[in-house]
Amino acid sequence: MSKKKKPISINIRCQCEDSAVKRPESLLVTVYCKGCGKVFRTNTKKDLCFDWERKR
Ligand SMILES: [Zn+2]
Repeated sequence: MSKKKKPISINIRCQCEDSAVKRPESLLVTVYCKGCGKVFRTNTKKDLCFDWERKR
């Protein structure tokens, strides 16, 4: 079992989920989508989620 806590924990989420997207986790912020109200994370300053932008 590897449930040991690391001395320095900068990343809150498991990095396994972001293996496909190679971007610094620290730049991501949680934002509410103004289109559908969904909570998403982005590294850019915008108010619409990726799904919503695709539909436009
Ligand atoms: Zn949305």
